[in-house]
Amino acid sequence: MQESDEPQLPAEATAVGGAAFDGLPGVADALGRALRDLRISVTDRCNFRCPYCMPAEIFGRDFAFLPHAQVLTLEEIARLAAVFAAIGARKLRITGGEPLVRRDLPVLVAQLAALRTPDGGPLDLTLTTNGSGLLPLAVPLAEAGLARITVSLDSLDDAVFGAMNGVDFPVSRVLDGIAAARSAGLAPIKINTVVRRGLNEASILPLARWARDEGLVLRFIEYMDVGHSNGWRLDDVVSADEILAVLGAAWPLEPLAADYRGEVAGRYRYLDGGGEVGVIASVTRPFCGDCTRARLAADGMLYTCLFAGSGLDLKTPLRAGASDGELAALIRATWSARADRYSELRSAATSRLPKIEMFALGG
Ligand code: SF4
Repeated sequence: MQESDEPQLPAEATAVGGAAFDGLPGVADALGRALRDLRISVTDRCNFRCPYCMPAEIFGRDFAFLPHAQVLTLEEIARLAAVFAAIGARKLRITGGEPLVRRDLPVLVAQLAALRTPDGGPLDLTLTTNGSGLLPLAVPLAEAGLARITVSLDSLDDAVFGAMNGVDFPVSRVLDGIAAARSAGLAPIKINTVVRRGLNEASILPLARWARDEGLVLRFIEYMDVGHSNGWRLDDVVSADEILAVLGAAWPLEPLAADYRGEVAGRYRYLDGGGEVGVIASVTRPFCGDCTRARLAADGMLYTCLFAGSGLDLKTPLRAGASDGELAALIRATWSARADRYSELRSAATSRLPKIEMFALGG
């Protein structure tokens, strides 16, 4: 039997609870939700300045991101990911900031791709990128073991896209990156589009038409009150109902069942066989009840919600020599006590609560 270097944790470390959620072992939170998805922010840095995440007027070119010494090394990230896998995580999503600006990312991808779940299966490894650096990296990432990828693209119109990315980055270079990902064999390729009223709602149909033609899975995301810097107003939200009405008027749709419990996107099939489209509706159709996502920030903080105001520091015990079992116990204790339901409880009062900026906790 091949000697695995994964952390052999005491039996109680893989506590029951998750099994009640979806039949798989693992830790569950105070609302019975299993820890299944780990979003790993490998950097808080980004080369874009999307107004709904990192508005340029607040996060200028000289914004002080995390100092290098405060950022987890690739080895530290891989070790923590192994601990999360041992207590129930089944999916790893590499995020940022913009993950492709992190040097040697394929090295980390190879380490994460080698991880296994307690029953020996591979983890579902994916990555979300703004696509700006995808052209040169698609092949190295695929060769390192990345199976699939999500690219954020908020419009096909250069002027609109420029306004949505805050740095006038051209659409063509993201499209080149997507083509490179396809040639590298990354599949499926999903496209995420944040829709903000007054900025890019006119891009809904052109994007949907393009994704249908390209055979890509497009998900529209309702604009969210993440962090404290994007000046969010409910009036600027284009709701799932509105988006589906626009799509349905062009191509009749029917709802699809979720692939698994905890899936974020509401999925729809084009009746004419034009593929699938999704809507991630955190504002008008909150999905906290099945939320299985933990977030590991680049500085080693564990957050249990996208709208968290505080988290658990894993870097200090890690660097102080804590064992995998001790780290697992810390994570389990935090997750077990988790009762986050921000989107279900969203109100004027909650939007004033302290919240970590989205780019700092991995989206
Ligand atoms: S608001 Fe928090 S608890 Fe609700 S779905 Fe989002 S991350 Fe999960």
